[in-house]
Amino acid sequence: MLRWTGGMVTFDIAVVGNGVLGLSAALEVARRDTGLRIAVVGTPHRDRAATPAAGAMLNCFGEVTQYTTRHPAVAARFALARRALDAWPDWLARLADEAGEAAGGSALRDSHTPGTFVILSARSGRITDENFEAMRSALVEHGEPHEVADPADIPGLAPCPDARPLRALYLQREGTVDARRVLAALEAAAATRGVQFLPATATALVADNGTVRGVRLDDGRTLQAAQVVLAAGSMSGELAATALPPGAVPPMLHGTGLAVLTHRDTPGGVTHAVRTPNRAATCGLHVLPSPGGHYIGATSVITPRAGAGPELGTAHEMLRAACDQIDQQLSAAQVTAWLCGSRPIPLDCFPLLGPSHSLDGLVFATGTYRDGFHCSPVIARYIADVLLDGSTPPDKDLSWFTPERPPVQTMTVPQALDEAVAHCMDAGYEHDLRIPALLGDTHLADGLRQRAEHLYERLPHPIALQPEIIISQLLLPARSPDETQPLTWLSDYLHAARKHYGCLDQAS
Ligand SMILES: Cc1cc2nc3c(=O)[nH]c(=O)nc-3n(C[C@H](O)[C@H](O)[C@H](O)COP(=O)(O)OP(=O)(O)OC[C@H]3O[C@@H](n4cnc5c(N)ncnc54)[C@H](O)[C@@H]3O)c2cc1C
Repeated sequence: MLRWTGGMVTFDIAVVGNGVLGLSAALEVARRDTGLRIAVVGTPHRDRAATPAAGAMLNCFGEVTQYTTRHPAVAARFALARRALDAWPDWLARLADEAGEAAGGSALRDSHTPGTFVILSARSGRITDENFEAMRSALVEHGEPHEVADPADIPGLAPCPDARPLRALYLQREGTVDARRVLAALEAAAATRGVQFLPATATALVADNGTVRGVRLDDGRTLQAAQVVLAAGSMSGELAATALPPGAVPPMLHGTGLAVLTHRDTPGGVTHAVRTPNRAATCGLHVLPSPGGHYIGATSVITPRAGAGPELGTAHEMLRAACDQIDQQLSAAQVTAWLCGSRPIPLDCFPLLGPSHSLDGLVFATGTYRDGFHCSPVIARYIADVLLDGSTPPDKDLSWFTPERPPVQTMTVPQALDEAVAHCMDAGYEHDLRIPALLGDTHLADGLRQRAEHLYERLPHPIALQPEIIISQLLLPARSPDETQPLTWLSDYLHAARKHYGCLDQAS
């Protein structure tokens, strides 16, 4: 029973956010130190949460792209995902045991389906080809068990004839688990270890003299804590801004994603995860087996402010692509749930993990974009290390993700523009773009490039943004009829970051 005195309650650690990262971190700390008073703040309906909408694919090599080896920060993210791949079997088994039967321990174990087919669909372009090839090379280089599969042998795959896969890989160790069951198990396991749950929303961090003191809640009360973990997903940016200097942390964007749970009366459909490689403006089309049917995912629309919900157009494209490229019979399946969540996407697309430099006691566990579910066991252990022994420096890989940093730039601005245009064209080819050979596609590509350059010129301190950020913020006028509007927030941030860090130059 919580005791509030004078509108305050005191804990050792307050975790803001009840998604997979907040809960996993709280559980891991409680496992290691049973004497700590730990609170998790978050409403039961999990407004805007990414986790309940996730597939959830446990993919590491399945996420590899041509960029993975091009910059140490991307390689560091890959290293994190590899550690998670090794961690999941034991993490899941222990979690199922701790949750117990009453909280669905067996159902959680049953929801784990190992094995992922990655297909290279004919409906794609150069970038997807290159990402597929990069994935194959990484599998070989790292000795990861895999098979080159004949697309015709993939169980349940039934694409349209003109969208048949050209090539396929089978990743034996990468599979899926039911994200909603993982959340339930995490809550049960954490509660068993004494973690308290506060069904509230944090409105601000409370700090003085360079030290965090707790969080203010939407009911007016204050939760005092010596350490605060910021794990509020895509809403973490707003909370960080209540206590940290402007420009200190890369802004958090919202990656609205829609996925659909389906039921089918007749047996059939894919028996393992089937996905396409990652590309900007998508997280890889995927169809996953789920109880009684399939999960179809997922859209990704990136906006600077929390969006009102998924867009009809991207939802339509995703469902059509799933039926065309993976299983035409999905068109007869019944929708049992529309899942919508917001991916936490820092401007530079790298996670925000570890202690704040400006505010003692504040620890970030967020910004994981599209693979935070998969990486959660490793992130939870790192956050527990930081909370329980603050003197431990992060290893060299994780130091890339220190939350207070100028944005990580993995390429030059001209390269970033080239990449964004190439990704945009790839998206077009996936969605039926056909340009007569007589005209060629260079005019379209040139037009996109000019548009991006024109808008880039108006940024005060141009930095190399990732292709998906350029596409979503600069190349898609339909979402921003007033062309100056999407740049305002970015310009404001770049001014503030330049003032805070002095210089934003990185890649050359
Ligand atoms: C459609 C979709 C599919 C995805 N598929 C995959 C996948 O297959 N594999 C994978 O690894 N990842 C996937 N992801 C990404 C993954 O879901 C995220 O990286 C991960 O779940 C992020 O977890 P989190 O705990 O940081 O954030 P969230 O899950 O967003 O949780 C944050 C929680 O904090 C709460 N909160 C927000 N503000 C406050 C506040 N002020 N006070 C208190 N609580 C607050 C929210 O309500 C929420 O419950 C997917 C994401 C989406 C949207």
